[in-house]
Amino acid sequence: MSEHKRGAISKEKIAINARVAVVGGGIAGMAAAARLAYAGCRVVLFEANAELGGKLSERRSGEFRFDCGPSLFTLPETMEALFADCGKDLQNYMNYDRLDLITRYHYAHNAWVDAWVDQEKFSQELYDKFNEDPSKVLRYLKRVKWLYELAAPVFLERSIHRRSELWTVANLIKVFALPFIGAFQSLYRFNKSHFDKERTAQIFSRVATYNGSNPYQAPGTLALINHVEYGIGAYYPKGGMIAIRDALAALINDLGVEVRLNTKVDKFHVFHNRILGIKVKDEKIAFDRVVSALDIAYAKEYLFSRDLLEPKMRTKSLGMSAMVFQWGIKGNFPQLDLHNIFFSKKYRKEFDSMSRKQPYHDLTVYVYVSSKHRLDDAPAGHENWFVMVNLPCDQKQDWEKIHEFTRKSILQRLSSDLGCDIESLIVDENVMTPLHFEKATRTYAGALYGQHSNSIFSAFRRYPNKHPRIHGLYFCGGSVHPGGGIPICLHSANISTRWLLDGLRESRGRSRRNSKRSSGNGG
Ligand SMILES: Cc1cc2nc3c(=O)[nH]c(=O)nc-3n(C[C@H](O)[C@H](O)[C@H](O)COP(=O)(O)OP(=O)(O)OC[C@H]3O[C@@H](n4cnc5c(N)ncnc54)[C@H](O)[C@@H]3O)c2cc1C
Repeated sequence: MSEHKRGAISKEKIAINARVAVVGGGIAGMAAAARLAYAGCRVVLFEANAELGGKLSERRSGEFRFDCGPSLFTLPETMEALFADCGKDLQNYMNYDRLDLITRYHYAHNAWVDAWVDQEKFSQELYDKFNEDPSKVLRYLKRVKWLYELAAPVFLERSIHRRSELWTVANLIKVFALPFIGAFQSLYRFNKSHFDKERTAQIFSRVATYNGSNPYQAPGTLALINHVEYGIGAYYPKGGMIAIRDALAALINDLGVEVRLNTKVDKFHVFHNRILGIKVKDEKIAFDRVVSALDIAYAKEYLFSRDLLEPKMRTKSLGMSAMVFQWGIKGNFPQLDLHNIFFSKKYRKEFDSMSRKQPYHDLTVYVYVSSKHRLDDAPAGHENWFVMVNLPCDQKQDWEKIHEFTRKSILQRLSSDLGCDIESLIVDENVMTPLHFEKATRTYAGALYGQHSNSIFSAFRRYPNKHPRIHGLYFCGGSVHPGGGIPICLHSANISTRWLLDGLRESRGRSRRNSKRSSGNGG
């Protein structure tokens, strides 16, 4: 485990008596609040909704329980590190299982390929089903491990906008090495160059969608995500994904963070390029520092006053959104596992269709059935399906029309591949469109992961974890550096709070030196 993951704060529990506001109570906001409170700050967390968790939430309907956001839990070490850095043991807050079978990839006529975490078993499966050379699969998985180990400490665990963190000789070597390992070709091309079979390349290219990007445009470096899944593993929290939210909420409670729910922050209060606090309705509340854990495009649009001239985010630079159907299904489908993928027939065309505003019929369908793992999530003889397709973010499309069309095409697809009429089995239904995501968590245009990563410069274009001009204003969360997804949000909370605490220590040191000097002068 890298030095930055563990012990960054716990080595030196500093009694910094600063008042800090954390705005936004999603994963990132809670993690930032915990780190700051443990370091001795007086932290108030403001959350606009009635509950914490942001995109990580759940919905209950009768005897069904559905997750509403994330379904795949990776890199649990980031959670462990957060709790350890705050003097706690994650196991006292939540536990999780490692999945043997990560994803089941379904093909026509009830055929499927199982992506096992056991690499030998997975490569054998690809040989049995696709005739892919197993040694190529194992070589690829070794390569992406190396890529992860090279890139993660620079691009995921540190700020690339903070000179003291990025510009060490070791990091420079890594940055210059990256072009030689795929950064200048697309993820799909990078993968294609490693395998004989198109379908294998497709399986390993899907990971681009995990941060709202297009595998045919995103750089090959993103292949490192495959190491996260097939090298480190995929996990499932006991108690469902919501257990992650509950563990973080319990942590901040134990650390004494003051949580103000149903409190929407309306503006950052800034004077002469210095943060003075926040504004809630007409009330100004003073803070020494502010951490924004909001969607950055939304924050830019609404929380800065006009005179600060924040350039607005263009929807063109934003990544994908999604449409999710939550279906209570009568019946049991043994051919489905926890995570299932039904690929579109023409994968590249699916991504081309994202630039159009018209509905598209041939989409890759993800079906997540948490009741496979957590039996209580559906009544006996039923399953709870979370059925998700990627769609462009909101650009004023006719979402009602797209909803209707998409529902119909998904049902056709699943009915044909699973061999029965799925619509007649739906006993409970809810849909979440990009407009829902925008409204529920104030995510600009419903772009779930903020900016896309469809260019080699994307990592550098993501918003930094500290405002470039406004002193005392910091950022974390899925739409700023280093990006979206639970573990990456936890990294961003670590990076921004480290920066904030270093700044507080520096100013404390400065003011001590000044007061010594002036008392020396006086004497
Ligand atoms: C459908 C879906 C599937 C996903 N799948 C996965 C997955 O399988 N694995 C994975 O790791 N990740 C997944 N993700 C991504 C992951 O959920 C997010 O990256 C992560 O939860 C973002 O957390 P966050 O804290 O940055 O932001 P958010 O969760 O968006 O939290 C922001 C919070 O700020 C609050 N807020 C907004 N404006 C204000 C204001 N003015 N004042 C006060 N509070 C405010 C909001 O109410 C919200 O609670 C998925 C996301 C979605 C939506």
